[in-house]
Amino acid sequence: MELKKGLGIIFLSATLLLSGISISPDVSADTSKTTVNHSVKKDLPNIKILATGGTIAGSSESSTDTTGYESGALNIETLIKAVPQLKKLANVSGEQIVNIGSQNMSNSILLKLAKRINTLLASKDVDGIVVTHGSDTLEETAYFLDLVVKSEKPVVVVGSMRPATAISADGPLNLYNAVKVASTKEARNKGVLVTLNDRIGAARYITKTHTTATDTFKSPEQGYVGEIAGDKVFFYNEPTRKHTVQSVFDVSKLKKLPRVDIIYGYQNDNRYFYDTAVQAGAKGIIVAGAGNGLISDAALAGARDAVKKGVVITRSSRVGSGVVTHETSDDKDKFVTSDSLNPQKARILLMLTLTKTKDPKKIQEYFNEY
Ligand code: ASP
Repeated sequence: MELKKGLGIIFLSATLLLSGISISPDVSADTSKTTVNHSVKKDLPNIKILATGGTIAGSSESSTDTTGYESGALNIETLIKAVPQLKKLANVSGEQIVNIGSQNMSNSILLKLAKRINTLLASKDVDGIVVTHGSDTLEETAYFLDLVVKSEKPVVVVGSMRPATAISADGPLNLYNAVKVASTKEARNKGVLVTLNDRIGAARYITKTHTTATDTFKSPEQGYVGEIAGDKVFFYNEPTRKHTVQSVFDVSKLKKLPRVDIIYGYQNDNRYFYDTAVQAGAKGIIVAGAGNGLISDAALAGARDAVKKGVVITRSSRVGSGVVTHETSDDKDKFVTSDSLNPQKARILLMLTLTKTKDPKKIQEYFNEY
């Protein structure tokens, strides 16, 4: 693995040198805080890039390797130095929060990231934030931040689908676009935004829809909020659900988040996963149900018993788009429904609502609003 990373870095270095860009010789997977400061220009916004890893920081020994590479191999210093054009957009500085594949993103890292963003945005010296992130769970982090960032200043989450060492790597332009959006006044008060592949999505709506393609991030029903074209930012829509400064969720005093698990519904399923989740200490369960969030009779027995033990059951859907409608049977069962949130985003909202209340009625109100 080390050898693989080393060769990838040599390739990246060679590519950058050929294109006239010099990078620091230290390109190790450094997870400590790193800061890069270009000389400050007073007329430019100050944008902080918080790096967490992912493919955008990925490296491989082969330029044609777009799947077997190592995520989170390059540090923020290297990523910033690889895009010198950033200097024209903003006074950019970087900080390494973690350097991981986003499948390893945890609740404690989410809390650390959110608290750091709130501290930075409270300063008059920071005009916007860019978070670099693995694409796999990017939508979960973006939605979490959408619910807990206490600022109208732009927060843009960005990733890539091809590692930095690949032919036609998409990371550098995605990063450039993210800093561009974060530097744009119109990006204020639009909730947390996601930029990949020249599109701007709202954290509440955007989701990863393809395992490997660069046009993977889509908002199936609500659409993008804007796009970047010809080096300009265009906004067309606004997210209508509550976010950031309108949100009641506050992480400032939270040390951990309540455990919420997701259970997938399928033919011939059973109640075992419900029993196991309850036993393992879940305070909430999201059901990735069939169609309009339906649960089989066998699994339903487990879900109902979980409610009796104080666990909040929320019906979402495995379909990928559309609303899960709230039925009278949900009131009887004391179930919550997820509106149009997919299971992984419903989990984020349920964790945060559980920091406020355990009452399914009140939790349903939150799901109707956020
Ligand atoms: N495994 C990577 C991650 O999510 C995939 C990516 O970034 O595209 O960290």
